[in-house]
Amino acid sequence: MIINMREGAPEHEIQHVIDRVKEAGYQAHVTRGTERAIVAAVGSNGRRHELQALAAAAGVAEVVPIAQPFKLVSRQVKPERTVVNVGGVLIGDGNFVVIAGPCSVESREQLFSTAKSVKAAGAQLLRGGAYKPRTSPYEFQGLGLEALQLLNEVRGEIGLPVVTEVMSTEDVDLICEHADMLQVGARNMQNFALLRRLARVNKPILLKRGPSASVKEWLLAAEYLLAGGNHDVVLCERGIKTFETETRNTLDLASIALARELSHLPVIADPSHGTGRPTLIPPMSRAAAALGADGIMVEVHPCPERALSDGPQSLDLDGFSRLMRCLAEPLRAMPMRDTATA
Ligand code: PEP
Ligand code: MN
Repeated sequence: MIINMREGAPEHEIQHVIDRVKEAGYQAHVTRGTERAIVAAVGSNGRRHELQALAAAAGVAEVVPIAQPFKLVSRQVKPERTVVNVGGVLIGDGNFVVIAGPCSVESREQLFSTAKSVKAAGAQLLRGGAYKPRTSPYEFQGLGLEALQLLNEVRGEIGLPVVTEVMSTEDVDLICEHADMLQVGARNMQNFALLRRLARVNKPILLKRGPSASVKEWLLAAEYLLAGGNHDVVLCERGIKTFETETRNTLDLASIALARELSHLPVIADPSHGTGRPTLIPPMSRAAAALGADGIMVEVHPCPERALSDGPQSLDLDGFSRLMRCLAEPLRAMPMRDTATA
């Protein structure tokens, strides 16, 4: 249930409602908006009728059920958009943020040349996998700690905050020491033990959508993070499984718009995994910008043909510069019909 406070309700009235929500057996999550406060009562073992009775409490405008199964993630609980700070870079503040870098960190030379080049072209954050979720156990699994150390060094020298994937609860502390943002990969979107653990770290999380997950399941995965105390979550649509075989996955653009409609969390697109084709990355990136996505994450490699993972979908350094230039161009010249004379 949510308890919408009246505009300008004084602090002691808000506090009284919070106390009553707790007494009724729920957790109270307060959002203090510019105009009014919203108190969300979350939990499964409370006494609902006691919440309903709060309609009569001083300063309360209304008590209404939360329409969706995800609660803290929903815009009903927090209408204002969330802005996530990743090592000083803001995601969700209205600017279009570009995260770029190799699928996997392979060597100092590969990481540094990519980082320098993507930064010069305008990327704000660097990505690079240290622990890789590979479909086959015989494929390159990532350099682990060595990659984390390289990411740490490159951040210091080049000055780009870094995003890297965490696959296991065991690695959380180590990765937190080296990275600015932790990525939960598509395959781990419903790894609930991992989500519960990440709810307790003070680093932002990039939560990828599972290839077969509905938007509701994706937002409920994010709910684990918020409910456990981590509110710095960015959602990433990276393509879903469909019958189409010409693209690696189907980048579900409508779901980006829908996730932004249902949730206050920032949402970015990953057109690299979402299409598997470098030629489709610029048009899909422009489409993501057009529909209001908060940014993109793109795989870039100095020599894609030599990449140890995801080479075929990686842009080379020039390709990334061209992508950045095309993102700066107007989407399309559109002759507007004069509706007055039509
Ligand atoms: C990646 O970002 O390299 C990755 C493995 O992504 P996903 O989890 O979306 O497959
Ligand atoms: Mn990849």
